[in-house]
Amino acid sequence: MPQDHPRTATTGRFAPSPTGDLHFGSLLAAVASYTQAKVSGGQWLLRIEDIDPPREVSGSAERIVADLQRFGLRSDRPVLHQSTRITAHRDALQELLDRGLAYWCGCSRSQLPHSGIYPGTCRNGLPAGKRRRVVRLKVAAEPVRFTDEVQGEVTASLQQTVGDFVIWRADGLPAYQLAVVVDDAFQQITEVVRGADLLASTVRQIQLQRSLGLLTPRYAHHPIAVGADGRKLSKSTSSDPIRATPPASLLQTALRFLGQPCPSEAGLDLDGTWRWALDNWSLSRVPRQLEIPLRMGL
Ligand code: GLU
Repeated sequence: MPQDHPRTATTGRFAPSPTGDLHFGSLLAAVASYTQAKVSGGQWLLRIEDIDPPREVSGSAERIVADLQRFGLRSDRPVLHQSTRITAHRDALQELLDRGLAYWCGCSRSQLPHSGIYPGTCRNGLPAGKRRRVVRLKVAAEPVRFTDEVQGEVTASLQQTVGDFVIWRADGLPAYQLAVVVDDAFQQITEVVRGADLLASTVRQIQLQRSLGLLTPRYAHHPIAVGADGRKLSKSTSSDPIRATPPASLLQTALRFLGQPCPSEAGLDLDGTWRWALDNWSLSRVPRQLEIPLRMGL
């Protein structure tokens, strides 16, 4: 049986990748995870997910930490840099390989079917002529089920949607899915609050927790902000006013986006807005939607 975290003291986290600066979309996850941890009397941790050097933007990790501080968001423990955890990621990989729960795959991208579902070509050993490229996790035949604290019941079959997925990359780096599961467990995270664009990843992460015998945190996925064109706000959306807008008013916008009826009268400064947030936050008010178009000033 899967093991869920008991409802004891909450430890939440925000885990940005340093692939660009903080933007409104990532601020939402920071605010939601922080407020949820704090109203539960818990801790909030910041983890910089710097395990993808090719995508890293120099200086962005430091700028994310500094920008979060402008909003009063400080990690309750020293910031964890995921790049310091590669040995633990490798150990988890080895455990899965040793237990026959993962395997080396020699298929190149061009050999994968258009469906995106890995057909299991290398599941029973590397076919002759193929060399080790990536490591894949064997996914269970039965669907993964969990209750998301915002989105409700989720049931998804990994076998029918992705098949055995990559947990160790061809460039010798851990895949995000493996690293995030190992480090959420290491930091004893009990509740993961983040954008709904990661809902599909959660299904993979729960499968990995089960394979590794780790506890499954509670999950809450808030709607993501999309632009007028329907596309996710991204770090490259340069119109993002994170530094141009006073933190108090951007925090109020974030809270309202997250369904919290933060008053819009002028006069609430940053401290006052946080007091309001901590007195009034309710996860049950976060809209049960995957995405919402952003109207600044809402
Ligand atoms: N590092 C991931 C990102 O910035 C998010 C990780 C997570 O919240 O699990 O998209």
